[in-house]
Amino acid sequence: MSRTPGGPVSAAPSPNALPSYLDPSNLGPWGIYLQQVDRVTPYLGNLARWVETLKRPKRALIVDVPIHLDDGTVAHFEGYRVQHNTSRGPGKGGVRFHQDVTLSEVMALSAWMSIKNAAVNVPYGGAKGGIRVDPRRLSRGELERVTRRYTSEIGIIIGPNKDIPAPDVNTDEQIMAWMMDTYSMNQGSTATGVVTGKPIDLGGSLGRREATGRGVFTVGVEAAKHIGLDIASARVIVQGFGNVGGVAGKLFAEAGARVVAVQDHGGTIYREAGLDVPLLLKHVAEHRTVAGFEGAESIPNDQFWDVDCDILVPAALEAQLTKDNAGRIKARMVIEGANGPTTPEADDILHDRNILVLPDVIANAGGVTVSYFEWVQDFSSFFWDEDEINARLVRIMKAAFAGIWQVAQDHKVSLRTATFIVACKRILHTRELRGLYP
Ligand code: NAD
Repeated sequence: MSRTPGGPVSAAPSPNALPSYLDPSNLGPWGIYLQQVDRVTPYLGNLARWVETLKRPKRALIVDVPIHLDDGTVAHFEGYRVQHNTSRGPGKGGVRFHQDVTLSEVMALSAWMSIKNAAVNVPYGGAKGGIRVDPRRLSRGELERVTRRYTSEIGIIIGPNKDIPAPDVNTDEQIMAWMMDTYSMNQGSTATGVVTGKPIDLGGSLGRREATGRGVFTVGVEAAKHIGLDIASARVIVQGFGNVGGVAGKLFAEAGARVVAVQDHGGTIYREAGLDVPLLLKHVAEHRTVAGFEGAESIPNDQFWDVDCDILVPAALEAQLTKDNAGRIKARMVIEGANGPTTPEADDILHDRNILVLPDVIANAGGVTVSYFEWVQDFSSFFWDEDEINARLVRIMKAAFAGIWQVAQDHKVSLRTATFIVACKRILHTRELRGLYP
């Protein structure tokens, strides 16, 4: 298939080309997920007889998304929506707009949503969507047309009781508003519950923006108790100071911890005595990067991994902790705010060095938990105040983490494997109860 990166598909795929998920030489994200399932299968007891359910998506839709560009030409983009599992409830998971999105990636992300939703015990299956497009190359009008056509194309499988999309990489509240409107226009009535992460005025939830960072902080505090780490005197370093990292950093600082280093796409800053986090957030709001922040020294990006600290929060991109830097990490605990920030090799190195890793599938589940609250509020058209939302979030995150911690102790496995054990058992238990149709 020939294509300009991030641009429209310009020719039909070669009829002989293997779909990427069937290419044995390319394990890809879906292959990594399959390995993770294989690893937990011995712990699933009798439910293991249902494990094949987890190894294939229930439903995967590939859609053509043609739009008129501003110059009058027609461009075609490729979109996906994958529902990995719906045994526990409707599909739930974000939509990613990125030039490198592939079906394999969306399949894996949808499966990890099944795991995450089951880990925090919200009544959802797992789903994910994406469009292979670089949104920075589109005008606002083009972006709206891509979003609306994609929503219309996947409209046959989404819905408040079927599958509920949400924001992910390069999608935001405005895109959720367009998705909600398009779905509603096609249905003939307003359906706020078809997406979450909407603007507050369109049925969004208070506390949603901060929810993922708050969840990161909450599980961090719980894990710290188990390893005898005092948060009030802990040194924290954070990679990525956006929605997740910025909020987590703020909450750690409010709890008395010293945030000593922060890295983002613009650079890395360091202050031994601890950064003034509220001032730093103000700086980022104005300059869109931590670089240039007065009251901290700038250090080379690579030195970030050597900074003396107790807690490392990767909250930026995938595959940041690798076999090349995992041996240098000084932290006692890594809390994965980002999705997939630790490669499997780095995971093993951290484990051997007795560094506790709080995996993404539980550590960043605060976002989907408050998405669940948003969906519930939309159904009842009755909206809760922020204190109530935060209190419910903390309760769910603490309970989920306590259960996973216990499983890790019982089986002497990592928290990642323990989270998979808990989640896979929940999913397969509902599969068994429901039985097979027909
Ligand atoms: P964001 O866009 O608000 O922030 C991303 C941050 O990463 C920014 O500070 C950016 O400067 C930094 N960054 C980008 N490239 C970098 C680089 N090369 N080196 C260092 N830093 C870099 O995004 P976000 O919503 O905070 O999401 C961050 C991660 O958390 C992603 O992996 C996302 O999938 C995951 N996540 C987010 C949510 C959510 O609710 N926002 C929920 C679950 C998981």
